Amino acid sequence: MRKKIVAGNWKMNTTPVEGVELAKEVVAGGRNVDKPVDFIVAPPFTHLSEVMKVTRGTGVAVSAQNCAAEAKGAYTGEVSAAMIASLGVEYVILGHSERREYYGETSQTLNKKMEQAYANNLVPIYCIGEKLEEREAGKHFEVVKAQIEEVVFNLDAEKFAKLIIAYEPVWAIGTGKTATSDQAQEIHAYIRTVLKDKFGDAADSTPILYGGSCNPSNAAELFSKEDVDGGLIGGASLKAGDFIAIGRSF
Ligand code: PEP
Repeated sequence: MRKKIVAGNWKMNTTPVEGVELAKEVVAGGRNVDKPVDFIVAPPFTHLSEVMKVTRGTGVAVSAQNCAAEAKGAYTGEVSAAMIASLGVEYVILGHSERREYYGETSQTLNKKMEQAYANNLVPIYCIGEKLEEREAGKHFEVVKAQIEEVVFNLDAEKFAKLIIAYEPVWAIGTGKTATSDQAQEIHAYIRTVLKDKFGDAADSTPILYGGSCNPSNAAELFSKEDVDGGLIGGASLKAGDFIAIGRSF
């Protein structure tokens, strides 16, 4: 049985006070979910410390949305994996399409970030996914394969065993346009095949989350598919009720 995970990417939203309130609501709501699902919240860096205080020991885990590619030093404005991990944070989202697109993150940078994450015992939630023009040109399989080969294939078996993948078609993120459950299953199954070719049966245990306009109305259909092991949720994670309802959708 693979882990079922619902992770909320808050992006650059909420003040620290609002973030703590949201985290408290997620903790309270999560207590009433009698499904085997792990909840993760990913607030901005400025909120991590306070959010850790209200989630510690509750079953709701915390993720950062990014980390620096370097360990420490003269990198103004950066936040290291060690700093994040020192707070008790367990996960870090890496390779989100917004970081690839707006901050020019390449596979080369992501390899360094992955290294930093693992060196500090943070579990990476590695995001992959094609743009609209790539899907329309029928290139979505080769795009995700390259994103896996260039980064995930550099991991050893021990590191790979901890990895979480999030498939997020860029055309579905924040657009209200969700992939159909068949489209999601098709590409999730393909991703698992690519992982299996390299890592063997260990890939059967890799959680592959779907992300892109997932909400309480479409989550059950998406999560009913064999290779969809949960979701990385953007907009709908900012309302605790919706986020928890997504978690109940398995
Ligand atoms: C995301 O950015 O990770 C995401 C899935 O966003 P949304 O749910 O808002 O499409």
